[in-house]
Amino acid sequence: MSKETLQAVKGMNDILPEEAELWLWFEEVVRDWLHGYGYRNIRMPLVEPTALFKRAIGEVTDIVEKEMYSFEDALNGDHLTLRPEGTASCVRAVLQHNLLYNAPQRLYYSGQMFRHERPQKGRYRQFHQVGVEALGFGGPDIDAEQIIMCARLWRKLGIRDVSLQLNTLGDSASRQRHRDKLIAYFEQHMEVLDADATRRLHSNPLRILDSKNPAMQDIIAGAPKLMDELEEDAIRHFEELQAILKRHDIAFEINPRLVRGLDYYNRTVFEWVTTRLGAQGTICAGGRYDGLIEQIGGKPAPAMGFAMGVERLLALVQEDGMIAPKPEVDVYVVHQGEQAAQLASLVAEQLRDDKLRVLLHCGGGSFKSQMKKADGSGARIALVIGDDEAQANEVSVKPMQGGEQVRVSVQNLVATVNQIIK
Ligand code: ATP
Ligand code: MG
Repeated sequence: MSKETLQAVKGMNDILPEEAELWLWFEEVVRDWLHGYGYRNIRMPLVEPTALFKRAIGEVTDIVEKEMYSFEDALNGDHLTLRPEGTASCVRAVLQHNLLYNAPQRLYYSGQMFRHERPQKGRYRQFHQVGVEALGFGGPDIDAEQIIMCARLWRKLGIRDVSLQLNTLGDSASRQRHRDKLIAYFEQHMEVLDADATRRLHSNPLRILDSKNPAMQDIIAGAPKLMDELEEDAIRHFEELQAILKRHDIAFEINPRLVRGLDYYNRTVFEWVTTRLGAQGTICAGGRYDGLIEQIGGKPAPAMGFAMGVERLLALVQEDGMIAPKPEVDVYVVHQGEQAAQLASLVAEQLRDDKLRVLLHCGGGSFKSQMKKADGSGARIALVIGDDEAQANEVSVKPMQGGEQVRVSVQNLVATVNQIIK
């Protein structure tokens, strides 16, 4: 039997150590940033009942129709899905544990999401999001807070050339009126609609507005506008949001065609986009979902959230030449001989007790070749332990950036190392 080389699943990427350094740096920046706004971490399972996503995201959306990894648990027949996004799971968890009982919640999560899409640059089958949700908040102040905090993150990450697209979807009554008008309008232009649009005409006509088909752009441009149907409350909400953004010098463009691909949104929706990543230019997207909590079985409560695509963000960060700092090594321990090896390993543990970062040489080799490794590691100090040192319970301490090599007792080692480093 021949052994094929096994490969990762298509569209699911390994993140190798070099790149993982960038991820670690990013995660630290993001955590500080979120804590600066009082958002608290929540962690949900990667797998949820399929019904959750169908109900939350909507049966007639791209995600539910063709992007979900759904399967039947062979052991008990349960219908399960790898999460394609986090909002539905987050709301489910908040309701299940009654977190909205006496206070609204600012929450965030991060991790893998799964969508069966055609893999290409910036579009993967396993990708990562950082999701931010404010549950129980109804005002435009929280919408503004989330947008303002995004702008701060872009500054922290050193990202340039991102712009903000903003729209309001109104509330359910105005959306229903708009929907009826849209269907009537497109029914008069059936000859121009492509197969996708025809299929969606009665199930999700709003999505037709999102079509990229050049042949349909003219009739899309002339379609009835939701703006003309909006209630006063929704208009005021949108205007207040814009006023706050202006006070904070956040530039935005109102894009009436921004509708988002998930059914739960209402009122505010937004996307941060860049022209620098080709077709996959949306790095962050979100909006208000005032009906979702009730739809999933909770007491009605408004909410607002967004998610950013980590792969796309990091691609931008890298374009700007950002190189994450390498993890530093303080001490590299070289040794030769059995007794020396035993002492080396004890000494390394002792230094780690003192919070030093220590690489213990493993795999043998001459002193010379070990010193080369010490050099390459970037360590500030090499410890050298041979038979001589081991027998005397001593260690030779060599500063790597020049300076005298000294031999000290094991008892005095931590002090000596700290003296050189600090
Ligand atoms: P798109 O229009 O690019 O398909 P979307 O509207 O489906 O995006 P959301 O569900 O709003 O995306 O997810 C929020 C963010 O997650 C997106 O703006 C994007 O940055 C990222 N994202 C979504 N799908 C993928 C994917 N398959 N691969 C990588 N990142 C993704
Ligand atoms: Mg998508």
